[in-house]
Amino acid sequence: METPDLIESLRKDLKQSLAYLSREDYSLIEKAYEYASYAHSYQTRDSGEPYLVHCVSVAKNLAELKIDHASVAAALLHDILEDTLVTEQELVKEFGEEVVSLVKGVTKLNKYQFHDNITEQAENWRKMLLAVVKDIRIIIIKLADRLHNMRTIKFLTPDRQKNVSQESITLYAPFAHRLGIYKWKSELEDWAFEVLHPSQYNAIKTQWQKRAESNTQNLKDIEEQLKEKLAGTDMQFRISARPKNLYGIYKKMERQNKPFSAIEDLFGLRIITDTVENCYGILSIINSSFKPVEGSFTDYINMPKSNMYQSLHMTIIADKGIVVETQIRTEEMHQRAEYGVAAHWRYKKIAEGGGKTDKEDNKDSLTEDRLDWLKKFIEWQRDTTDSGEFLTSLKTECDFEQVFVFTPKKKVIKLPYGATALDFAYAVHSGIGDTCMGAKVNNKMVPIDTKLKTGDVCEILVRKNIRPSKNWLEFAITAQARSKIRKYLKEHGK
Ligand code: MN
Repeated sequence: METPDLIESLRKDLKQSLAYLSREDYSLIEKAYEYASYAHSYQTRDSGEPYLVHCVSVAKNLAELKIDHASVAAALLHDILEDTLVTEQELVKEFGEEVVSLVKGVTKLNKYQFHDNITEQAENWRKMLLAVVKDIRIIIIKLADRLHNMRTIKFLTPDRQKNVSQESITLYAPFAHRLGIYKWKSELEDWAFEVLHPSQYNAIKTQWQKRAESNTQNLKDIEEQLKEKLAGTDMQFRISARPKNLYGIYKKMERQNKPFSAIEDLFGLRIITDTVENCYGILSIINSSFKPVEGSFTDYINMPKSNMYQSLHMTIIADKGIVVETQIRTEEMHQRAEYGVAAHWRYKKIAEGGGKTDKEDNKDSLTEDRLDWLKKFIEWQRDTTDSGEFLTSLKTECDFEQVFVFTPKKKVIKLPYGATALDFAYAVHSGIGDTCMGAKVNNKMVPIDTKLKTGDVCEILVRKNIRPSKNWLEFAITAQARSKIRKYLKEHGK
């Protein structure tokens, strides 16, 4: 049983982290807290802690995103239908339909738990996404729940630790990434990495700590230099260190087949300023003060990633030949990069689609765009019965590496890395995809399986009598193209 002290400090903590809520909205949280505290009162977790600690921790994770009060209340109540005698009707009476539909959604997700068999696992995930597509908050609550479970994973049996970690790294981390909640993605990955590859994890961690000491000094030196250069201007800025997560380093070592000592960009410089104009102003000062690495500049402000990430990226060579990956962004872009879809939380049910307010602004359309992706992705998957197919699509679609390709009219089409001219055709219009005969890339005729690069201008050539064929599935990689091709083949009995 919990001591009164612990309860009091938990309650205080939660209240503090929810300071952004109005008093009226906060009263719902108090009520949910009391209710959860009572309903779970005799339960403990595997760690031996009172169960309430878990509920409050999940609620606190969500508070970090400044999410709406219904979601926080649902987080406090998220295990109540599954683990206590409280019934749905009782809960509706106390908290209303909205909160209860969130709790029910999270409870439903728990039914699709991990499977050793990867095909069954993929099928579970597919069902799970279909089950919650109406309300993206359910996935976000589930992510917050998983984050706390990963933080306390050492109390589980070794087998369950592996299962949960595998699932976190294959499903939840990519999802957090796709929703732009970078902080959670990194943390989920690192906890799972420690469980799944303990020796690699420890080796990288030790070397990373050694390098951190010398790097901190180097970054300070660069910061001083920058301050001097910017002193004459009225540009405001602050610098925040940007350590790569350990799993990210591990993946880079694997991908580039390099030892730790050869990975240079472990620490980055992040410069945060107030306006877009100042981002470019600071960029030009950096350009004239340090030596930029050729070809390292990427403008994600003009061309945001599909998870709406925006920043200027470049790698510079500072004194002593130190290589520093540098990012420049506004405060708003920074919030979005860390907390993604929830940074400017204006919740809208995906299923409702159209119901936009007239106060549409830039932030809203950015959020919409992300929700839109999820909605589309799940629509594409509706006709899929093949779980392996689902898993491959999820991987491709969640991969943040992208290429930007232009139509002849200079419209930008964003595609996952490795996409072909055929994927491009389907991204432009499904009718164009279905009758795609060939393509002109940068004015040269190419076959439709040609992979596209950022900056390519692609024109699709169509012919009326062309029809999708089975072999197209060998080089179409986007979920959209593949689902359209499969649909055609199915309808025509092929
Ligand atoms: Mn839970």
